[in-house]
Amino acid sequence: MNAAGPWVESITDQVNRKESHGIQLVKGSHIVVPKIHNDEHAYILQNEDQHIVFVLPFEEDYSIVGTTDVDYQGDPQQVAISQDEIDYLIDINNQYFKTQISQSDIVHSYSGVRPLLKDEAEDAKAVTRDYTIELSQKGHAPLVNIYGAKITTYRTLAEAAVNKLNKVFPKMKPAWTKSAASPGGDLISRESLHSQLLADYPWLPKPVLKRFIRQYGTLSYQILENCHTLEGLGEDFGHGLYQKELGYLIEKEWATSVDDVIWRRTKLGLKLSIDQKAQLSHYVAGKSDANITEKYCA
Ligand SMILES: Cc1cc2nc3c(=O)[nH]c(=O)nc-3n(C[C@H](O)[C@H](O)[C@H](O)COP(=O)(O)OP(=O)(O)OC[C@H]3O[C@@H](n4cnc5c(N)ncnc54)[C@H](O)[C@@H]3O)c2cc1C
Repeated sequence: MNAAGPWVESITDQVNRKESHGIQLVKGSHIVVPKIHNDEHAYILQNEDQHIVFVLPFEEDYSIVGTTDVDYQGDPQQVAISQDEIDYLIDINNQYFKTQISQSDIVHSYSGVRPLLKDEAEDAKAVTRDYTIELSQKGHAPLVNIYGAKITTYRTLAEAAVNKLNKVFPKMKPAWTKSAASPGGDLISRESLHSQLLADYPWLPKPVLKRFIRQYGTLSYQILENCHTLEGLGEDFGHGLYQKELGYLIEKEWATSVDDVIWRRTKLGLKLSIDQKAQLSHYVAGKSDANITEKYCA
């Protein structure tokens, strides 16, 4: 199953199974700035170049402004925002909002590379966001390649990708995920989970509780299993990131680096100081090498 995103073709090349489909890499970048507005709305700004830019509330205190569409060549891992993209995003924000921003307001930026299906469009923003899945049976083992995609259609895509294997595994059962909850999503409402967690863990600091509900949903119970006091969660690495949660991220969510923890699993990178990040980096590196085994709240 080749679901390597922007690397999909490097895999087909590596295993010598180049197929008819091609992808086009299109970079998109975002900037994060202190909150531009106080309401909960997401704004879509229409630019003169026909491109739209989102301004989204982010992590309570911030706004995200993005994204861009720029043709990209090179290693997707090295992708980074350019000065032109920064200027573009600041400019469109300042055309629409009373809160004017400048480069010094940017607290974080991030970029990604979209693996879009190659089509005839000349303009990066016009390239199709559709996806194609193919089953290649040329070699010794069947190979499913996934080209293009969106997060919003991830479940449909995943079902379609697995269904491609029907030919190979004729006894395979039909798709079952249509009404299945995502991990941690088996809850009635956030409010009800909030009340329940508050009743069960009244000693948990409110900002941590709020973050857990958003980030882990009902999986919060796994992290807090057997915990009866705040001290039981171990050391606080800053802003309520305790050893117990770190252990969970390393063991259950395969975090192997400080960036996995502070950017990919949580967004605490926005809040932790340089010293706190360094301390965390040291801790995570040690734990992933040593295959963390100790448990808190045991
Ligand atoms: C800037 C930007 C904005 C976007 N905006 C939206 C949006 O608003 N809405 C939306 O629905 N979607 C959006 N998307 C698309 C969405 O991010 C992707 O559809 C989604 O991330 C695809 O997930 P994936 O797991 O298939 O691929 P990816 O998230 O790209 O993951 C591929 C994985 O394969 C791994 N890999 C690569 N090579 C190998 C190898 N040899 N062995 C093992 N692993 C390997 C990589 O490390 C990576 O973890 C956006 C994408 C970008 C870049």
